[in-house]
Amino acid sequence: MVGAACAYYTTRSGLSVAVVDSGPVAGGTTGAGEGNLLVSDKPPGPELSLALLSASLWRELSEVLPETVEFEQKGGLVVAADEASLATLTATAEGQAQAGVRTTAVAPHELPEVEPHLAPGLAGGVLYPQDAQVQPALAAAHLIRAARDAGARLHLGTPVTAVLTGPTGAVRGVRTGAGDLLAPAVVNATGVRGGEFAALAGVELPVLPRRGFVLVTEPLPPLIRHKVYAAEYVADVASASAALQTSPVVEGTPSGPVLVGASRERVGFDRTLSVPVVSRLAAAAAALFPVLGDTRVLRAYQGFRPYLPDHLPAIGPDHRVPGLFHACGHEGAGIGLAPATAALVTAAIRGEEPPLDPKPFSPDRFGEAAGGAAGAGAGAGPETGSGTGSGPQAPG
Ligand SMILES: Cc1cc2nc3c(=O)[nH]c(=O)nc-3n(C[C@H](O)[C@H](O)[C@H](O)COP(=O)(O)OP(=O)(O)OC[C@H]3O[C@@H](n4cnc5c(N)ncnc54)[C@H](O)[C@@H]3O)c2cc1C
Repeated sequence: MVGAACAYYTTRSGLSVAVVDSGPVAGGTTGAGEGNLLVSDKPPGPELSLALLSASLWRELSEVLPETVEFEQKGGLVVAADEASLATLTATAEGQAQAGVRTTAVAPHELPEVEPHLAPGLAGGVLYPQDAQVQPALAAAHLIRAARDAGARLHLGTPVTAVLTGPTGAVRGVRTGAGDLLAPAVVNATGVRGGEFAALAGVELPVLPRRGFVLVTEPLPPLIRHKVYAAEYVADVASASAALQTSPVVEGTPSGPVLVGASRERVGFDRTLSVPVVSRLAAAAAALFPVLGDTRVLRAYQGFRPYLPDHLPAIGPDHRVPGLFHACGHEGAGIGLAPATAALVTAAIRGEEPPLDPKPFSPDRFGEAAGGAAGAGAGAGPETGSGTGSGPQAPG
């Protein structure tokens, strides 16, 4: 998703772009994400600013992308089980409102009007009309198609095996399984593989996988109107613990199945289905929406969120290797944050005024800018290659 958005915005800005992906479109975490475009789960701060910019860019994109990407400005409803939880939720919402988020408090007696199938007895909630949803794999595919229509070249099934640098240490392109691509700018949009890609350029970026499971129910008639989740979800997202966290996150989709999340744990790239985790998710969803108690789950799958220790993505130039830009580490928000990320990357490559302060996202926070660092890494190669393009190119 992030690479697709970068390809779309950089190409449309007039740059010559090549997208390079070792797999198919949306074969990474994007194919496992739920596609929520959320402002509601972000406390005031740089990530919320990025999310607000992205929310408006997603609305613009929804005008140009086909209806099949299932963009829905459905709104999010965060619910609190008790008074203590409601107090925390209300305080967060007040801070968010000051930062420009639209919020509406929902009293307990109003909850059935907003979500008729919610369990009784909840303490209250907050409605976030700016929250939206998209089908992430289709959105990525259509953005890639739009980028290609605007001139981007597409190299799928083509792993990048080295970042090429010249005598000054500046980026000269990438080596791929299908030859070298020369370019003065390379964007690392490799998601959870962002640290491995950075290592190809001889620099460190501490991206780690944070596993999450999603349950997909049988198709149901429209029962759940918003993205609905428990207030505890926000604390789970912000947690630095490697241990398992689960909190119910439930939403319908236009095609019928209900999606149920969300779990978070750092267990490396372990793909084993965890019955205890999916059982906890199912039980929590049925507690929030009793109507789901009799619903069959058709499948469960997992994905790996690209986690950085401070929960902020790495976006922008890596001053250790001139010409290397990062756009990775978006953890559980990469679908939502992709357009604003791409806008920042495009401005950085073009040397233009960024749409918001890029400093909090600077990859430099993970290491000193060092003039001699480039070219020292495992994959940094000499200035060689057959080169298929002359302008800046953006591998996926
Ligand atoms: C269960 C779950 C639910 C989620 N729900 C949401 C949600 O509701 N909303 C939201 O915003 N986010 C959500 N996320 C997070 C979101 O899915 C990710 O943040 C996002 O998909 C990251 O996109 P990306 O483009 O950075 O990475 P990816 O989609 O992983 O793309 C990276 C690409 O890089 C390619 N690549 C890797 N290494 C190389 C190489 N050496 N050479 C060439 N190509 C390479 C891969 O093949 C891949 O296609 C969820 C994640 C999970 C796991």
